[in-house]
Amino acid sequence: MIFIGLGSSIGNAEEIFASVEKLLIEQGIQVVKKSSILKNPPIGGVAKNEFSNAVWQVEPVEARLIAPLQLLKILQKIETDHGRTREKKWDDRTLDLDILIFHDEIINIPELQIPHPEISNRIFVLKPLSELVDETLEIPTLGALGSLIRKLTS
Ligand code: ADP
Ligand code: MG
Repeated sequence: MIFIGLGSSIGNAEEIFASVEKLLIEQGIQVVKKSSILKNPPIGGVAKNEFSNAVWQVEPVEARLIAPLQLLKILQKIETDHGRTREKKWDDRTLDLDILIFHDEIINIPELQIPHPEISNRIFVLKPLSELVDETLEIPTLGALGSLIRKLTS
């Protein structure tokens, strides 16, 4: 299973996320399951706006294969299409698309870390993910989804 995280703090998140789905389809990626959109305070001390976050399960259409770096490129192109500029880390942005989980792959190169290293620290990722899968889901290197949630909320 492949999961991506969506985030937006500038503009109408509902509209932006709907447009993401359209652009993904154009690239041969379909959205299988969507979490609700959760509103969260900004993190990291740079951004000022409230963030809207969601998690989607995606897969290539028609049993096609996709490689993690290919998916990253597609997501970065969609971010750019939405006016995302890469200036300050953590700053407000129209659209942030992260690969959270890519099957059982573990990747650790500068341009791509999978599973996304911040998953276990971010309740705004874990909670929407738990709307899509059972909490017994084992996230490679991090552990079961349920225990990650309990660590953050207890
Ligand atoms: P952040 O999401 O932490 O706010 P950015 O969206 O600006 O930061 O991403 C910075 C870099 O993170 C990108 O250039 C990308 O190559 C890298 N990156 C590493 N792992 C991932 C991942 N799992 N998903 C998306 N980008 C990643
Ligand atoms: Mg990102």
